[in-house]
Amino acid sequence: MQVDQTVHVTIKERLKEIFGYSQFRGDQEAIIHSILAGRNTFVIMPTGAGKSLCYQLPAIVSEGTAIVISPLIALMKNQVDQLNAFGINAQFLNSTLSKAEMNKVKKDTLNGTLKLLYIAPESLTKEENLDFLKKATISFVAIDEAHCISEWGHDFRPEYRKIRGIVDDIGNLPVIALTATATPKVQQDIQKNLQMEEADLYKTSFNRKNLYYEIKPKVEAKKQLIKFVKQNKGKSGIIYCLSRKTVEEIAELLSVNDVKALPYHAGLDPQTRMHNQDAFLNEDVDVICATIAFGMGIDKPDVRFVIHYDAPKSLEGYYQETGRSGRDGLEGNCIMFYSYDDIVKLEKFNKDKPVTERDNARHLLSEMVSYSNLGVCRRRQLLGYFGEFMKEDCGFCDNCMKPTEKFKVQHEVVLALQTVLQTDQRFDVSHLSDVLTATSNQYVTSYEHNRLDVYGKGREFNETAEFWCSLIKQITIYGYLEKDVDNYGILKLTQRGMNYIEDPYPITLAKDHDYAHIAVDTGEDEKDADAASGGVAYDEELLGLLKALRKKVAREKNLPPYVIFQDPSMEEMATTYPTTREEMAQINGVGMGKVQKFGKQFIDLITKYVEENEIETDKDVVVKSTVNKSKVKIYIIQQIDRKVDLDEIAEAKSLSMEDLMEEIEHICYSGTRLNLDYYINQVMDEDRQDEIFEYFMRAETDNIAIALREFGGDDFTEQDLRLMRIKFLSEVAN
Ligand code: ADP
Ligand code: ZN
Repeated sequence: MQVDQTVHVTIKERLKEIFGYSQFRGDQEAIIHSILAGRNTFVIMPTGAGKSLCYQLPAIVSEGTAIVISPLIALMKNQVDQLNAFGINAQFLNSTLSKAEMNKVKKDTLNGTLKLLYIAPESLTKEENLDFLKKATISFVAIDEAHCISEWGHDFRPEYRKIRGIVDDIGNLPVIALTATATPKVQQDIQKNLQMEEADLYKTSFNRKNLYYEIKPKVEAKKQLIKFVKQNKGKSGIIYCLSRKTVEEIAELLSVNDVKALPYHAGLDPQTRMHNQDAFLNEDVDVICATIAFGMGIDKPDVRFVIHYDAPKSLEGYYQETGRSGRDGLEGNCIMFYSYDDIVKLEKFNKDKPVTERDNARHLLSEMVSYSNLGVCRRRQLLGYFGEFMKEDCGFCDNCMKPTEKFKVQHEVVLALQTVLQTDQRFDVSHLSDVLTATSNQYVTSYEHNRLDVYGKGREFNETAEFWCSLIKQITIYGYLEKDVDNYGILKLTQRGMNYIEDPYPITLAKDHDYAHIAVDTGEDEKDADAASGGVAYDEELLGLLKALRKKVAREKNLPPYVIFQDPSMEEMATTYPTTREEMAQINGVGMGKVQKFGKQFIDLITKYVEENEIETDKDVVVKSTVNKSKVKIYIIQQIDRKVDLDEIAEAKSLSMEDLMEEIEHICYSGTRLNLDYYINQVMDEDRQDEIFEYFMRAETDNIAIALREFGGDDFTEQDLRLMRIKFLSEVAN
């Protein structure tokens, strides 16, 4: 007792002293005591709950070195850096170390000054590493991301299965295994494999009450995405995409639409990757677009949204990734875009995997599909998946807040439960539904299920196979059936289900989402966006008003009207009704410079018009497509800034002078100001420049053919006129 009390005080003091926290969170203290008492300990806690501390603190207060097995080098480095910053001697051992670094690790371990040794399982299996660990004083072994042990999980690593043997080799050591993700099946598998079925289990609720879950059909996803991100301007967010290519594409799309965003994926060189990650952590950018390579070990407390632009491969992955939002307990929006096409794509990726792995991947994916389609409270589904039963719906997810149609059932439920019983509780959803709907196939007949009492009974309710599948899945989530831990997909009756057959009552279920009947995203929303911003059907009345205003402003400023705004820009305004400076700047041909110069009166006019005519403006419509600022254009702008000769720019990009002029004009007409004086001064004297400048000042139009006619005979080339038009527009219009 006395001793315990001292330890108790000590670790709490050390918590404050080393980490600066005055309180333990959740089960942390009990977990630390468990491992300090030499008991095998199994910790299942959601991401962000504070698992690391559960082995870091006991490692620091124990004699000798704790071995921390962790799958990712980046993750190790992160933790080692953090601990070193706290003044703790922690190091890692992996293949990237030099001989000298290696020796230092060994020396510190053997003389007992090293408190935590992070090591990847691959390195652990190396004979030379094993030998010195056997000689050292090891306090205990921590296995982080322990779900990697299980091939039923979403992140199986074969080398993790060797850990038990190696630990036994080093000595008789207590083990603490930790993971943020374990279905009941995975949990069982981990404990079996580590031979720690008797371990103290600490499983915290996975519920992240502050996170809001929503699934949107993946239709015009880019537009939806930009709308969402813009509505959350200035907030930190992560957007997960499946491929590097999509990551790049989305990051660029956001940048072009004035969102500070950067890409992150394994294909970037380490320096860029590091830079982009830091930019996100330091809030130099708001949004990071990433493959799942991003986020392991990322500890940014104020991520306000996590968007899955593509469907994830498993609910485990989905839950971990969404878990990176709202770690500080405040707002966290988790949005996923769902299309069955994505699932098909993911299935294709699995094609070449070994059989077991492929089956597994397919199971994980089918859970993802169910989760997306069912109208049941998302949180209830997620927690249920991880073995946690919720008594009530959460009230804070899309299915709770915007429910699909509800319906009442009773006889149907009894029938479904009876079907499970009559087939000896040995079959999965689709087989059960086949029996109910008398869908004869080789399985049904080979088990003689076509002779059962319930065979075809489902048809009396005039319901389809989809109906029965959905019903069976829903009553499983509600606890009338349960998944067999040992055999994937097999459903068994629970006590609750038994009772229900005896004493049934009406149950309310929800219809599935019908994503299929919403047009599937064809990847062509760029085109849609362009059409929207190109102005197909503009508001003629507003356009008339805008033109009148342009005329007035032009007269006041003594400028030709086309200098203020060009017609296509005005048509676009009469389509998208921009009522803020930001929105106005999104109009093609209108940069911020123009907004500052001429914007106010036009914005006021549109605002008044929108109010008077009660027009619903769709703010998200304007999506600047990435095409607007191709790499070539950016290059040209940069080179002109550096006063590089146009001939040289053309040559560097293998453009003809004609092509280059077109690019430059395009840039200029999109509202970017270019200073070409350094070049123009070389090819034209001042008088001639003035002459042309004045012409554009009084001309009705900036049409070059007309200008050429005007200057006919004065030996101005078309090139001269075009250069001067750029100068003119840049100076007075942009
Ligand atoms: P996990 O590994 O479970 O995802 P971490 O160990 O990375 O979570 O911890 C998440 C965050 O919570 C970290 O910023 C950590 O410093 C912080 N944290 C952990 N324990 C406590 C505590 N007792 N009090 C306050 N903050 C804590
Ligand atoms: Zn809910």
